[in-house]
Amino acid sequence: MDKSQIARFRDILTKRRDELRRGLNKEEPQDAHDFGRDEGDRANFSQSKEMAFRQKAQDRGLLLQVEAAISRIESGTFGECMNCEQEISINRLNAVPWSRYCITCQELIAERR
Ligand SMILES: [Zn+2]
Repeated sequence: MDKSQIARFRDILTKRRDELRRGLNKEEPQDAHDFGRDEGDRANFSQSKEMAFRQKAQDRGLLLQVEAAISRIESGTFGECMNCEQEISINRLNAVPWSRYCITCQELIAERR
């Protein structure tokens, strides 16, 4: 991969990381203790809280992957499969810049689960 491609991915990944961090640092929604809410409101609220919680867990996982990808850029191993050390295809990286594995290894790993 050439330097300009690396620079582009660094840019994408850094922006993504900052976005995720901002999202994760946001205040938690207020608890549904306040008066004036009926049963249905409370149910909706706890549902949306549940969703926000799941979203955050997902974002946290993604943030770790994005940070790991950035540190691979720093150490010069970005774009290499962490399993077989072959280059990950540029199409795959364009779709998912924080990919750790080439498509072949990714499929093998998914099958093993
Ligand atoms: Zn591989």
